[in-house]
Amino acid sequence: MTIDNPPSGRVVIPRVVILGGGTAGWLAAAYLSRTLGMTGITLVESSEIGIIGVGEGTFPTIRSTLAGLGISEAEFLVRADATFKQGVLFEGWATGTDSYFHPFNMPIGGEDEALLPHWLADTSPQRAAWADAATVQEQVIRAGRAPKRPEDPDFSGPMNYAYHFDAARFADYLRDISIAAGVVRIEGTVGNVQRKADGDIAALELTDGRIVEGDFFLDCSGFRALLIGQTLGADFTSCSDSLFNDRALAMQVPYDRPDAPVRPYTLATAHEAGWTWDIGLTERRGIGYVYSSRHCSDDEAEATLRRYVGPQGAALNPRQLRFETGYRQQQWIGNCVAVGLSAGFFEPLESTGIMLIEAALRMVGDFLGPDLLAGADHDARDAAARSFNRLMSARFERIVHFLKLHYCITRRTDTAYWRDNADPATIPEPLRDMLAQWRRRPPSRFDFVVDLETFLPPSYHYILYGMGFETTLAGARYPGAAQAREVFARVRAAHAGARGGLPDHRALLNHYHARTGV
Ligand code: FAD
Repeated sequence: MTIDNPPSGRVVIPRVVILGGGTAGWLAAAYLSRTLGMTGITLVESSEIGIIGVGEGTFPTIRSTLAGLGISEAEFLVRADATFKQGVLFEGWATGTDSYFHPFNMPIGGEDEALLPHWLADTSPQRAAWADAATVQEQVIRAGRAPKRPEDPDFSGPMNYAYHFDAARFADYLRDISIAAGVVRIEGTVGNVQRKADGDIAALELTDGRIVEGDFFLDCSGFRALLIGQTLGADFTSCSDSLFNDRALAMQVPYDRPDAPVRPYTLATAHEAGWTWDIGLTERRGIGYVYSSRHCSDDEAEATLRRYVGPQGAALNPRQLRFETGYRQQQWIGNCVAVGLSAGFFEPLESTGIMLIEAALRMVGDFLGPDLLAGADHDARDAAARSFNRLMSARFERIVHFLKLHYCITRRTDTAYWRDNADPATIPEPLRDMLAQWRRRPPSRFDFVVDLETFLPPSYHYILYGMGFETTLAGARYPGAAQAREVFARVRAAHAGARGGLPDHRALLNHYHARTGV
């Protein structure tokens, strides 16, 4: 991306500096260089500090992000040790012994709510779970099937899907393709940040004395938030009153045999003071216990994790990660935008971390023309920053509602953690208001401002009714009962075909590895 400077006739290439080489930094570098075709990008990363190295579950938006980089799906799958993810299977969240699936597939008929009232009105004991009544995907994942066939085009298939991957290998892969596209990598630790008289960032000063100047900076420095927080002073808004989890213990657990089945979904199991993620890669599982330090000690958490993992984890030592749940309302100040953990973080439930990186990059790409990147017009740039901050804050706020939904409608009362989670005082008011209405009527599309939502209304339906939330319908009548019955029958009839038409998950992964010779 270049701009012409007419008076001198010079061509100016804005210098973009990315601080940080984790998933956020290298995804930003790859997106700017490969998807947007920008030049003049430098990325500074510190091997002394390293990357967080977790973040293995993604959201279906990742497919179009990766496709936009112009890479092949097979190469990505092999380089990042990626597997397919078709949603999240929740165990024990509603009663302690229940199980429900949040599929990535939309209900048949799309986002339209026409079917839901008829499912709600059916009180027969034979009624299928909502996810099973409205999609074939639960059948597919329970049979261990992949979401696509070898002959399907890259990044698409009959089922909606995302990936699980090894975070460190993914960052390495993004680094290679970004450098191949012209991004300059500087290894070093930033010790000081130089400012201009107007407050903009002028340069990063490395501890070995090197200076990296730039016109525009992306702060991808992780929880340190070196630029947006420490230098520019953006406040952090905590969400810990609603979302209690603030620690995780993570382990990488090898399979007991090389051909063990690989789950094509994330398994999220509820425990006394949090939940475990269980993510299948080709050679190991990534398992972690996310918990609230206000509700259990680290020793209790480790005991819970070890109980879950069993003998395969006996010789492994978990790694502890501490985090604060929340975000910065000002993620863009002057010539700096925060992307990734520096902007904010919610606990790993529903994999919002990488998806928020993707959303931020798309928005930066749309809002920042080359003139604004070069700092030509501060008023226009500040207007873009204010819009970005409003939209991102709204997006973060709505994610809090969606995540809290998983906890606050629980019927578990066995521990203080679950009781506190259902305490109305911990539920944000907009969500409390919606829940009060959803007791009488199903969610309506008017409950949502869809462009601000990361999770569309069908995701709310899957969680609400997967958890056994009761909506009475308050005597309302809904047209189309006979058609709805036909549609449900069609979905039921399609179950076997969907299972049979898709390959085993590990077999498909083996196919991609064999194709790329790895
Ligand atoms: P980091 O990986 O921490 O990278 C920061 C970079 O900045 C590093 O390269 C570091 O060296 C550099 N740096 C920092 N300070 C300096 C300095 N002074 N000088 C030079 N370089 C510096 N997200 C998901 O989408 N799905 C998940 O399943 C998921 N699970 C998670 C589980 C846990 C327990 C946690 C804590 C997070 C999880 N996340 C998940 C979030 C995800 O890990 C992050 O969004 C993602 O890894 C991006 O991190 P990052 O690049 O912002 O930060």
